[in-house]
Amino acid sequence: MTAPYTAAPVPPPASAPADAPRPAPGALRLRPLPGEVTASYLARLASAYRMPLTHLLDGLGIRLSPGPDTRPPGSELTLTATAQQYLAAFTRIPHPHLRRALPCLSPTDRPHTSDPTGETATALWQHTPPALQPVRACTVCVKHRTPDAIATTAWIYPQPPQVLLCIRHQQASSDPRHTTPLGIRTLPEVAHTHRRLARAVSAAPALTWAATITTRWYDHQQHLATRWQTRLAALTAAYPHTCDGPASPTLTCRSLVTYPETLTLAQALAASPTAP
Ligand SMILES: [Zn+2]
Repeated sequence: MTAPYTAAPVPPPASAPADAPRPAPGALRLRPLPGEVTASYLARLASAYRMPLTHLLDGLGIRLSPGPDTRPPGSELTLTATAQQYLAAFTRIPHPHLRRALPCLSPTDRPHTSDPTGETATALWQHTPPALQPVRACTVCVKHRTPDAIATTAWIYPQPPQVLLCIRHQQASSDPRHTTPLGIRTLPEVAHTHRRLARAVSAAPALTWAATITTRWYDHQQHLATRWQTRLAALTAAYPHTCDGPASPTLTCRSLVTYPETLTLAQALAASPTAP
């Protein structure tokens, strides 16, 4: 099981020169979602202002370096410290608050120099490894957070065990290859177990161990096979498009199908005297 995505090394940029023009505060307030991909937030911001991402960055004085793939989940935008300061100024969100929501932002108060091109405010596309790729956020939450609902997609880095749940709107995402979050009303035990245990085990190393164990059971030993097959059948019946993707739903729904047992096992491991 993988750790949540952490910021790729940011080219250490120079502090903004004293006479560098900072962007004026924007007219709209658009908050990031917790754990949101930087590129996803910038795309929603551009959408709110009815302009392409490239125009938004240009208007903020941020130079965009092209990359091999230019959108999530395969790529993420890395901002230099000066670019992050410009973004904070434009969004009217203090940088520490912005950084708390966007995991790939970095501290801006450490010493830094300019990036290799000499630019200080730069956005650079970087490849995101498959195991660390984000998943789609709850569509209802995105609508509520995005003015006029122009943008309907947002990407979030999930915490172990790589399942993103919105209990309020009964949606779950477990794989970047799904074209939409999946409804979980037909799997009441998922939400029930989440409410009961998620907070207690979220920070425990036992959760990572438990996810590794249930993944192995699911892949090789078929423990609890009937229960998991029933959940998978319910998901694929409600979302037949999951069968049309590049990977089988047996794989793409795995962490969601095993989620209740992963939490339950994590609780048992954490309570063990020899807890990891
Ligand atoms: Zn939601």
